[in-house]
Amino acid sequence: MTAEILNGKLIAGDIREEVRAEVDRLLADGSAVPGLGVVLVGEDPASAIYVRNKEKACAEAGIHSETLRLPADSAEQEVLDAVLEYNRRPDTHGILVQLPLPAGMNPDQVIGAIDPDKDVDGFHPVNVGNLCLGRRGFVPCTPGGIMELLRRCDIGVEGRRAVVLGRSNIVGRPMALLLQHANATVTVCHSRTANLPAVAAEADILVAALGRPAMITGEYIKPGAVVIDVGINRIEDPALARDCFSHKPKRLAAFERKGHTLVGDVHPRHASEKAGAWTPVPGGVGPLTIAMLLHGTLRAMKHQTGRE
Ligand code: NDP
Repeated sequence: MTAEILNGKLIAGDIREEVRAEVDRLLADGSAVPGLGVVLVGEDPASAIYVRNKEKACAEAGIHSETLRLPADSAEQEVLDAVLEYNRRPDTHGILVQLPLPAGMNPDQVIGAIDPDKDVDGFHPVNVGNLCLGRRGFVPCTPGGIMELLRRCDIGVEGRRAVVLGRSNIVGRPMALLLQHANATVTVCHSRTANLPAVAAEADILVAALGRPAMITGEYIKPGAVVIDVGINRIEDPALARDCFSHKPKRLAAFERKGHTLVGDVHPRHASEKAGAWTPVPGGVGPLTIAMLLHGTLRAMKHQTGRE
């Protein structure tokens, strides 16, 4: 079996175009420009790249974004003040604090200071509570994007057995709640789960969000299952790269040239042989996360200006 590829990049492109079209339509109707306020603390290179990508995506979608960059040794109060200022400003409809914050800062305190109506990342306890209760609110962008992918690929969720590998507040836990609200029967697994391969292999829909490169091999995958790979891991081990990409000569050649590549939590060769459909890395789940952030910022603007 060669699994169908679920092209997240293509779907993310559709969502971004839809956001752009709606922003244009609303602006022509006299609406405010949707605004996203970002706080970036410290010099973490990955965070800096994520923030740049978000700024670029906002610009392309007609969303105004601004980023307050603070040094790593800032006092927590300065970060809180930045959040409170964005809360106050009527031209800022969405707020994003790029995580992780430097050691010594309390992310709960900072996230908890965001106005829940502007919490487009969906991490504020009010939005977490709304998600638990099945009420409207902001949902974390990665699991929200996965639900959108399933919907747009016509993958039915209701009545199916879903297994979520990972229970983080950012991915695994909200993912499980969203699947449950969509009437899947959901099992959540973590580092203490016994017989993990056997539990995973019961899934019609398997979501892997572990942060463990290519850990999910064939024995975890029920033949024909839908496999969603959230993991983004940089690997430099030639043996692992050869094992993962022996079926992809171009990809292997690129690895030999650069000395590194990205792999998800799912073993790509095993998934393509055993799953019915799966999301590749890169080009699967990743692009949806930013697309959903744009979508959330537009929604926040509509809500705050009485257009929804
Ligand atoms: P965390 O490290 O916060 O959580 C990992 C989860 O996996 C934990 O619940 C942990 O269990 C579980 N876990 C780890 N190792 C094992 C194991 N060997 N067996 C069973 N369970 C295990 O990670 P995140 O949820 O933040 O991210 C997961 C992955 O997704 C990462 O690769 C990250 O880079 C990627 N990611 C991708 C995004 C995207 O846009 N595509 C967005 C966010 C994350 P326990 O709770 O017991 O410790």
